[in-house]
Amino acid sequence: MEHKEILEAAGLTRSDLTGGDLQVFTPIDGAHLGAVKMHTTGDADKMIANASAAFTVWRNTPAPRRGELVRLIGEELRSEKENLGRLVSLECGKILQEGLGEVQEMIDICDLAVGLSRQLFGLTIASERPGHTMRESWHPMGVCGIITAFNFPVAPWCWNAALALVAGDPVIWKPSEKAPLTALATQKICDRALARFGTAPDGLIQTVIGKGDIGQALTSARDVAIVSATGSTGMGRKVSAAMAARFGRCILELGGNNAMIVTPSADLEMALRAIVFSAVGTAGQRCTSLRRLIVHADIYDQLLPRLKAAYDGLPVGDPLADGMLVGPLIDRSAFDGMEAALKAAQTDGGKVFGGGRALAGQYPDGYYAAPAIVEMPGQTDIVCHETFAPILYVMKYRDLDRAIALQNDVPQGLSSCIFSTDVREAEYFLSACGSDCGIANVNIGPSGAEIGGAFGGEKETGGGRESGSDAWKGYMRRQTNTVNYSRDLPLAQGITFDIEGAVS
Ligand code: NAD
Repeated sequence: MEHKEILEAAGLTRSDLTGGDLQVFTPIDGAHLGAVKMHTTGDADKMIANASAAFTVWRNTPAPRRGELVRLIGEELRSEKENLGRLVSLECGKILQEGLGEVQEMIDICDLAVGLSRQLFGLTIASERPGHTMRESWHPMGVCGIITAFNFPVAPWCWNAALALVAGDPVIWKPSEKAPLTALATQKICDRALARFGTAPDGLIQTVIGKGDIGQALTSARDVAIVSATGSTGMGRKVSAAMAARFGRCILELGGNNAMIVTPSADLEMALRAIVFSAVGTAGQRCTSLRRLIVHADIYDQLLPRLKAAYDGLPVGDPLADGMLVGPLIDRSAFDGMEAALKAAQTDGGKVFGGGRALAGQYPDGYYAAPAIVEMPGQTDIVCHETFAPILYVMKYRDLDRAIALQNDVPQGLSSCIFSTDVREAEYFLSACGSDCGIANVNIGPSGAEIGGAFGGEKETGGGRESGSDAWKGYMRRQTNTVNYSRDLPLAQGITFDIEGAVS
């Protein structure tokens, strides 16, 4: 399909794509896709006011009815999966299978949220006082701002929005300025669901287009109760400071620097496939991409030659073409970042295999890179840094404690895994003295999480959790209720406070 056909199939019109000052290019060949209108901070303020008004209606809408709206969004997404998935590939360069997978994640979280809309329950708690009950109630929190990154342009919005909507919170989406088209197309999908739903308040689901200043409009507005931000650690630091200044709630999903430990007992066939998928998938531009491989010295010489052979045969090119596995980097600065990291690794004693620009003749304005493996003498500064590109640093270990220490000795704490068929090693890796990450897997790579579990990581990854498990609590406020149905007024902790003399 031509670029124009993909845009049209996703519902984008001439007026969406012209007359604005945000220029959008496809990383596939650098072609211009559109000039999208950016909102001003004044527009953002109006949207926040609309969302606040919508909150007063939506919080009183029964949660299962709120779930019905999310069910309709899921239904619309099902019928648009192919068109939206293709647009994801066109706008951010991931291969079509991954573009479709991203939309599938949106569908999955909608399904999960629909079920949750009948399960937003709290605890009942034993009271120390006779004739009293205690319980916990969960109430809608308020407007939820959602700031997203370019590399997963739609799924993280939906992880947040589906839960926030059933929780009773209106949502305002600030997509990456590198991927506004998928957001506009998704807003249209939601508008169709809203029309079918019929009674949702205006301003319930909105999209605001702009750069960091528009993100800041959300973080500084007192009426935005929650900001969920996905992106770099640098951005997260600013969001976190702005939210802390007003005691707002933030959910941060920031950078990762994910490792795999391969032990002598590992099934090397499985490990090899997992390494290649998680290191080069999305051209190394996933927050959960495999960036560090820590291999036992006894199997290093078996694994490395096979890994290099697999890298040699990887198809790099047009992400929309059948059978392609590695698409382009998002832009030139991403490619320059990869080159600079490889140079720094060499200066630190690293031996580089692969790397360099690919297909420059065919795509002078597309930045394709051959994935690189770098054998490192140790975990130097550049290895501790998240370079958003397909670079896999490889290190040797002899002692599992040392391997775990290496795995944990980076500022980020998102995802991790071990390949081992030894239950002692595997359980040790998952124990309190094992991986320090939010995600720790056994015999599975670090990327490609399922929607049912809580997603997120520790340290500079920001500490937020989204998606499954009890992540919905992040979008609601907890209230502790104590009810006295007796005819006395006993005080807690056995305190006596006799006011007989004071009241006559
Ligand atoms: P980025 O930090 O450049 O931008 C992310 C978003 O933040 C954009 O929408 C941007 O406009 C906005 N922004 C920038 N400054 C802001 C500010 N001061 N206040 C509010 N918003 C602001 O990130 P990117 O290059 O688009 O994405 C790549 C990064 O995102 C990587 O570090 C990757 O690991 C991370 N990421 C993390 C997850 C996760 O779930 N942990 C998922 C995807 C991507």
